[in-house]
Amino acid sequence: MDLPNIEAYLRPKDIENITEWSENWAWLAGGTWLFSEPQPHLVTLVDMQSLGWSKIEIEGDNLVIGATCPLIKLLEHSWLPEWTAIAGLKSAVSALAASLKVINMATVGGNICLALSVGTLAPVMVTLGANYEILNLKGELRQVGASSFQIGFKKTILQPGEVLRRVLIPLENLKWKVSYQRFSFGASDPAYSIVVSAYNPKKQKFRVAIGASVVAPILLEFDGDVNMQNINFIGDAASAAYRREITTVLIRRSLDIIEQ
Ligand SMILES: Cc1cc2nc3c(=O)[nH]c(=O)nc-3n(C[C@H](O)[C@H](O)[C@H](O)COP(=O)(O)OP(=O)(O)OC[C@H]3O[C@@H](n4cnc5c(N)ncnc54)[C@H](O)[C@@H]3O)c2cc1C
Repeated sequence: MDLPNIEAYLRPKDIENITEWSENWAWLAGGTWLFSEPQPHLVTLVDMQSLGWSKIEIEGDNLVIGATCPLIKLLEHSWLPEWTAIAGLKSAVSALAASLKVINMATVGGNICLALSVGTLAPVMVTLGANYEILNLKGELRQVGASSFQIGFKKTILQPGEVLRRVLIPLENLKWKVSYQRFSFGASDPAYSIVVSAYNPKKQKFRVAIGASVVAPILLEFDGDVNMQNINFIGDAASAAYRREITTVLIRRSLDIIEQ
């Protein structure tokens, strides 16, 4: 879709070239969402594709994924076989495979920063204990845990002008066994519930994160059983009680799979 109100398109080679910011500016990553509906409040797009932030690499104890890494790269990269948790990332991308066009263009950072309740990657990142590296226009970096990043529907902790620079996943956590479960009525319909469970064989511990049935992904307390008593489930086209029930079923199913 054309965005006729856009007055300026910036394509910086270096992020330091961007020294000012306004509320009617937006970072442009893959553009799969930005160009999918009118954006009447936006006048400037800052294209991130020229920044060279698409690498997948190992740094210290972390797997590091650059913000502009296209989703398709998560499917095609040659991963180490012992990184069993990569199956969770691949399942998250495949859940969008109804549209190959989207996974070719959409980026890891775009998916996380758009912060849809149905966001496919965020619950995996939460389960895997990922950290997000955030960069501001002064060149300062900070890190935040994936579970603290999204605070509502299309709401994150990013301040104006801040950008998600990289995703860091502890290498040790990539050895966890992961199950990604998603429920929707049709394969290409939005998810009603997403559950990502992990089993850490070293510590014999489970982790479970839920998404889509709640406005932002939540890491559940897991103490032999999951506690969902104080969780507010979304109630719209499907009632909150329905989403809670479906989520319970998916949790049981995912735990059964990783326990096998
Ligand atoms: C109709 C439709 C339905 C969709 N449904 C789903 C769904 O159910 N689940 C799902 O997971 N995906 C869904 N998507 C896919 C979604 O568009 C992409 O997966 C992704 O969320 C956007 O990635 P992008 O790189 O194209 O981001 P863009 O469209 O370029 O940007 C998306 C938003 O994120 C901001 N942004 C992008 N990168 C950064 C960054 N590094 N730092 C700060 N801000 C940034 C942009 O400013 C913009 O606000 C849907 C897409 C469409 C068109």
